[in-house]
Amino acid sequence: MKFNTKVIHAGIEPDPATGAIMTPIYQTSTYVQDSPGEHKGFAYARSQNPTRSALEKNLSALENGYDAICFGSGLAAMDAILKLLSPGDEVISTNDLYGGSYRLMTQVFSKYGINFSFVGLEDAESIRDHITEKTKMIWLETPTNPMLNIIDISAVCTSVKDLDINVVVDNTFASPYLQSPIDLGAHIVLHSATKYLGGHSDVVHGAVIVDRKELADQLHFIQNAVGAVPGPQDCFLVLRGIKTLHLRVQRACENARKIAEFLLTNDKVANVYYPGFVDHPNHEIASRQMRDFGGMVSFDLKEDTIEMANKILSKTHYFSLAESLGGVESLIGHPATMTHSSIPHAERVKIGLTDSLIRLSVGVEDVEDLILDLKTALG
Ligand SMILES: *Cc1c(COP(=O)(O)O)cnc(C)c1O
Repeated sequence: MKFNTKVIHAGIEPDPATGAIMTPIYQTSTYVQDSPGEHKGFAYARSQNPTRSALEKNLSALENGYDAICFGSGLAAMDAILKLLSPGDEVISTNDLYGGSYRLMTQVFSKYGINFSFVGLEDAESIRDHITEKTKMIWLETPTNPMLNIIDISAVCTSVKDLDINVVVDNTFASPYLQSPIDLGAHIVLHSATKYLGGHSDVVHGAVIVDRKELADQLHFIQNAVGAVPGPQDCFLVLRGIKTLHLRVQRACENARKIAEFLLTNDKVANVYYPGFVDHPNHEIASRQMRDFGGMVSFDLKEDTIEMANKILSKTHYFSLAESLGGVESLIGHPATMTHSSIPHAERVKIGLTDSLIRLSVGVEDVEDLILDLKTALG
């Protein structure tokens, strides 16, 4: 089955009881048993729910995985992955990481004796210098937020191939439509389905997709033992969102390219960060590992001040000022005062995250309206 067919059909069967073509929301906590212990595969809804199972089958197919396990949020999914570890184990992570992921690692899991190091993974081979016999996991996010750097997933996986290490890829920014980490050698894929998978800014949800049975068994065990499961209505919303994933992401990519090209020509703009530009430092890797360059664009201003950025942020009409990304509507954000405000100024500027840096999550509106909106705001 090809990708655009999978989004609609993979894991989805008409409801056996009624023939309903859409997967029903099984809003139930328990299931009647024929006799003690004899049931239809469903005993209690923390352990199994048919709406959730359909979504898990669908996500596993989209990521070319062995199985998928769903959670109440992206961070709950990440929490379950980190619970595969034991005290003393070490994780090597990219230093350009979603803020909530960084917080979970450094403020929650470090208390339980898991050790994290944060390194630049742009040079994939250099990762060998950081590995010790205690390293059990490599954690990476690509494209990165908000600088849109690209990490070579295949090169990272190849350089640790002979070791007992799981490579985890947070695929939230790319979505499975643009990037297939398991095909590139990754073992575990993480999604905040709150973003492109759900796609309509109406649900918080997370998922893990794994490449083999051993990991699936462990994560289903953690899902049931810890209990951070999503409700059936949230699973339904994600399933429904996925049905148009290919159309939405394709249009967002087309719009983002045109907006990035427009920003380059505007005389208030200093730098435009977009991996689709041939002079982007990681353009070659992006062309190899992604099917298109995504719906995210960042840029900063010649007058590099928070005040100048605020002026623009308060003037857009279709680009709404909000955290999050990946919905049908366009969003605009200011990393220095919003998502990345906890990072010290000197550290921020080192990676190019200047005071005036603005991040766009480009939606699927008419691109001419979006460009006019930015043009007006830039004055
Ligand atoms: C939003 C996000 C998360 C966290 O997901 P939630 O659904 O908000 O818990 C993790 N990683 C990335 C890259 C994100 O953008």
